[in-house]
Amino acid sequence: MIIVMKTSATPADIEQSVKNVEALGMKANIIQGTERTVIAAVGEERVAGIRSLESGPAVDEVFSILAPYKMASREAKPESTTVRAGSLTVGNGQIGVIAGPCSVENEEQIIATARAVQQAGATALRGGAFKPRTSPYSFQGLKKEGLKLLAKARAETGLAVVTEVVSPSDVPLVAEYAEVLQIGARNMHNYRLLEAVGRCERAVLLKRGPSATIDEWLLAAEYILDGGNPNVMLCERGIRTFEAHTRFTLPLATVPFVQQKTHLPVVVDPSHGTGHTHLVPAMSRAAIAAGADGLIVEVHPEPEKALSDGYQSLTFEQFEDMMGGCQRIAAAMERQLGEWTATQPARTG
Ligand code: PEP
Ligand code: MN
Repeated sequence: MIIVMKTSATPADIEQSVKNVEALGMKANIIQGTERTVIAAVGEERVAGIRSLESGPAVDEVFSILAPYKMASREAKPESTTVRAGSLTVGNGQIGVIAGPCSVENEEQIIATARAVQQAGATALRGGAFKPRTSPYSFQGLKKEGLKLLAKARAETGLAVVTEVVSPSDVPLVAEYAEVLQIGARNMHNYRLLEAVGRCERAVLLKRGPSATIDEWLLAAEYILDGGNPNVMLCERGIRTFEAHTRFTLPLATVPFVQQKTHLPVVVDPSHGTGHTHLVPAMSRAAIAAGADGLIVEVHPEPEKALSDGYQSLTFEQFEDMMGGCQRIAAAMERQLGEWTATQPARTG
């Protein structure tokens, strides 16, 4: 159930509506829009007296949301959400570019990459410290040491740090070092982890599970929003199909489709989505042409020596070329790619 408050609603009016919702045994989540406040009442809608919510003070409209996800739906919040985290802005016509290695390997690697991607126009640095690997024998990441190296790279460049968290108990530690917590594809269904990042103040990049439907993905986002964290970015990173030419199949129709269903910004990952370095630039341009709000791309100083995902990583030079192509597409779409200068504060909150 959605309660749309009038533009004239006072904090006391909103509080009264929240109380009315709670009196019906439902939970009231406040969604602050730029013009008006909306209250998403979640819970059993078949209760008697639900229409009485309409008579609350300064209530404009009450309607029920058909989509299974409530807070993530455009019906609840018609205007698009912009996520800001330090140097990274995703949404509102700004295309954020998150770039860096699959895994943080050593100080030299992460600092050199941070400098190179910043030079080429990236607005955030990625790098895995906690790696969820298919095989237990593969490199599992430098863990806390990796987080410290990412913080060092931020201190050098001012770039916001995007890194994965794989366990609810690690959330406070990762949040101490990173502006954005990544929920990896394998963990999209890890509901206790989604709840933990929902309670956290850091922005979240939620990757789509390789076998997840769009509804399942948006319901995963709903867990985070319902937990109280409004700064969620969705990330299409490819799904598993019968096709074996690429590592995954990257469905770009997801971008305009999801943008119609939800107010959350959509980031595309052409690295995992294709699994081949040579396909990444074309799919980055295509993602921007499809209206993506951001890109996340793997870049490594020496991809052939990378401890993970080297076969889909770009060299510094390839990334610079890719950014040139993306700039031209972004200009044609009347959008800004990047847009951040080192004079801006690197960290927010
Ligand atoms: C990654 O970003 O390196 C990663 C493991 O991605 P995904 O969760 O999409 O597989
Ligand atoms: Mn990777």
